[in-house]
Amino acid sequence: MSKFAPPAKDVDDLYFNQEIEPLLNTPQMAKIQLEKLKPTLQFFYDHVPFDRERMDDAGFKPQDIESFDDLARALPICGQADYREVFERFDNDMLKAYDHLYGELRMQQLHLITTTSGTTGIPTPYPVFHDSVEAMGEVLGRMGWRGGLRAGDRLAIGYGLSMHAAGTPILYYYKKIPGVTIIPIGAEAGAERFLTLLKLFQVNAITCTPSLALYLAEKSEEYLGEPISSLGIEKLLLGAEPGAGIPEIRNRLESEYGASVIDVGAGYGVSCECPEYQGMHWVGDDHCYYELVDPETFEPVPMTNGATGLAVFTPLEPEATIYFSNLRYTLNDIHQVFTDDCPCGRSGFRYKIVGRADDMLKVKGVPVYPAAIQGVINGFVPELTGSFRIALDREPPLVIAPLKLKVEYGEGVTEQELPALEEKIIQKMKALLKVSPAISWLKPNSLERALKKTQLLEKNY
Ligand SMILES: [Zn+2]
Repeated sequence: MSKFAPPAKDVDDLYFNQEIEPLLNTPQMAKIQLEKLKPTLQFFYDHVPFDRERMDDAGFKPQDIESFDDLARALPICGQADYREVFERFDNDMLKAYDHLYGELRMQQLHLITTTSGTTGIPTPYPVFHDSVEAMGEVLGRMGWRGGLRAGDRLAIGYGLSMHAAGTPILYYYKKIPGVTIIPIGAEAGAERFLTLLKLFQVNAITCTPSLALYLAEKSEEYLGEPISSLGIEKLLLGAEPGAGIPEIRNRLESEYGASVIDVGAGYGVSCECPEYQGMHWVGDDHCYYELVDPETFEPVPMTNGATGLAVFTPLEPEATIYFSNLRYTLNDIHQVFTDDCPCGRSGFRYKIVGRADDMLKVKGVPVYPAAIQGVINGFVPELTGSFRIALDREPPLVIAPLKLKVEYGEGVTEQELPALEEKIIQKMKALLKVSPAISWLKPNSLERALKKTQLLEKNY
């Protein structure tokens, strides 16, 4: 064994980090986080112009802050819109803008930079500093270990490798689980080459988007002359878009591949093998402070079981940040958190991504997210095909009740069965989303299918 190799681990260890992970989401962890708060604030004040300006604008100094609640009261959140303002201020000179956003000290340690896939405007940067590689190696070690990666596994990387935040950096991050070999195929390879390489190198684990996993399964017969199940893929770690948490998609992938499906969606979270999706366990408490705020008032939302809000992140290892490189940063995702014990018995509160703050609709004052409606609809497959549209008569977010849904019923459902089915769906939405929709029925396959992102809104205004 090389003297540089990571220490061997017992395959039966519950956690990758047996010291820290049992402490996740406990009072001891809150203490560790609090100890990191002051030096973190001081770092941002001393070295990061963007955050120093925010503190100055808000009228406080690091030493005025004694707790995360103090910080939440004192400092407004920030996000992509603030980044865009900085780009404009520096006339899109990215290096000057990055110096402002991240600080020269960290920029001297910049190891690589990736971005969001952002279809419009300037993509949001994801800087990876030298220390970030170590820190994220630790966090992804925790995630990968929980996702079942062990020595001897050959893991194909199937995200886009060109500038994708979940692409090339992953090559570095997955280095800490001893004995795991990385096969960096990349989404750019296309299905034929991807499948050929999976077979050639006897890959048994893939990390990629759920849509690529579905696509590979669909194309396996055509390109390899055999079903995807014959390749011996045992583990799918899926992220960068929702899907692994949607029962229909997870069941389909599990049965087509004969593999376990784990959601490594976004941030420092990983789902578990519980038959019913429990959300992703947050495994990064010691690296990043997680909080929820109301998406309209930005007031703190207490972390109680079932609470929903805009997820906001504060890095606690400022020189080693990943994804979140400023204080109280939001990606604009709405999360629902679960703080009760998970049936899997593992540590860390759980969260589900229920939608984007920009996608929020308001029906009789109740916030509703298209992705949450999709979740309920998908739960009725095969009685429904899963395809539907939300018909809007005016510009969102305000919707005049009732919320109108056009829903495809499933193959094999008769028209006589529709009223009872409609009642079941309405009851489920009332219970889960506190909204009572009006449903109009469509025959199976009457809505257009999109290969990439499905548009769920039908805008009639
Ligand atoms: Zn669990």
